[in-house]
Amino acid sequence: MSVRNIIAEKITLPLSDLVLGQSIYKHLRFLLKSQYWTKDELESYQNKQLRKLIDHSYKYVKYYHDLFNKLGLKPDDIKTKEDLHKIPILTKEDIKREGLEKFTSTAFSKKKIDKISSSGSTGEPLQFYKTKYSSSFNKAAAIRAWYWQGYRLGDKYVKISMNPRTSFIKQLQDRMNNCKYLSSNQLVREEFQKIADEIIRFNPKIIRCYPVPLLFLTELIKNSGNRIGNSLIGINTTGSTLHDDSRNKIEVVFKTKIFDGYSCEGGAICSQCETFENYHFAEEYAISEFIEDDYTKADPEHSARHITTDLQDYATPFIRYDSQDYIVLGNNNPCRCGRAYRNIKKIKGRDSDILITPSGKYLIVENFVAYFQWIESVEQIQVVQNSINSIVINLVINDKFSQKVHEELLDYWKMYIGEDVNLTIETVNEIKLTPSGKRRTLIRNPKIKIDL
Ligand SMILES: [Zn+2]
Repeated sequence: MSVRNIIAEKITLPLSDLVLGQSIYKHLRFLLKSQYWTKDELESYQNKQLRKLIDHSYKYVKYYHDLFNKLGLKPDDIKTKEDLHKIPILTKEDIKREGLEKFTSTAFSKKKIDKISSSGSTGEPLQFYKTKYSSSFNKAAAIRAWYWQGYRLGDKYVKISMNPRTSFIKQLQDRMNNCKYLSSNQLVREEFQKIADEIIRFNPKIIRCYPVPLLFLTELIKNSGNRIGNSLIGINTTGSTLHDDSRNKIEVVFKTKIFDGYSCEGGAICSQCETFENYHFAEEYAISEFIEDDYTKADPEHSARHITTDLQDYATPFIRYDSQDYIVLGNNNPCRCGRAYRNIKKIKGRDSDILITPSGKYLIVENFVAYFQWIESVEQIQVVQNSINSIVINLVINDKFSQKVHEELLDYWKMYIGEDVNLTIETVNEIKLTPSGKRRTLIRNPKIKIDL
């Protein structure tokens, strides 16, 4: 570790924790030790945390209090994770139907917890509360996964994101964290040329980005013959599924390895370890269960549906939450990295089409979900491109939706997508599921070809 790394970890992080009311440093120190626990030690910790979560939820969360009473369950009936099956699986629809308040602990003042919005892998927005404690724990688990790549706090990294960085606090954090934050809001060649130039100038150790924008960047760099610095030790991807052919293309052009990751609301961070043979969940943060359904039974890859119990967030407890994501489990041999976590071979998360406009602008699922996750009157979205100059945004709405919201959405998306596309926004009763039980957020008519 360099002096810069030591200062970033031991001074800057604890100071920023103090100022922002977080506890990332404390959790990071804990997680850097617990990653080498034995299987028994891990399970014993999980079971202890589970009992605390269940006690809290029964006492302070109306939904769980009523559910336990209805099922004739007492908190003492859930002693270990083997008892979890006694509690029914929780879906996103359950939370929306019952209302967030019923899922929110009355033990916290609303001023002390943060309202979070997530789109999950299906593009269906969900809002929930998180304590600063659980956000810090989760962030620490993410940092620990970066450590698996050889990154240390203080190292230069680039984050390519769909959203511009507007808040002063965030900009200050970026500066302190040695992070160059680049917005890829508009997926057009000029934007990516600027991003490539900035990366070359900044010379980062790590690049963090969704897979699809990285593919655009890869094409551009390949065609220009430029080299992306000599400090790069890895690329982090998350969000959409990273397919093998995309991974190969990106790794060849960037001359480095990709560490792919995954997360969902109520779930743990999951990341590839340094052996590249497995992904591992941060099992200190959440309990993962893997179940069969109609899709997994027919899947030649023998995937399993991922059900998660968040052990650290008591504000909106997620107990046996259906992430709607699929995982391919690895073998039961100990991983060569020396950690006792479950081996995960593959993540089958969000998979979606890419749209293209006549002027050559690309639209990806992250463009839409990043925007719609904050629109409370919209429950589900699906964007369909029938021809190169015709796009329909289908919305399932709730009673907060109004003509004014409709007009605002139309204005925003017409401006965003461009004049050369005939855009309509329609409200529909339902959006049909794919055979895997997911909603496909973007659908492009296969006759519209994209060369990526
Ligand atoms: Zn490993």
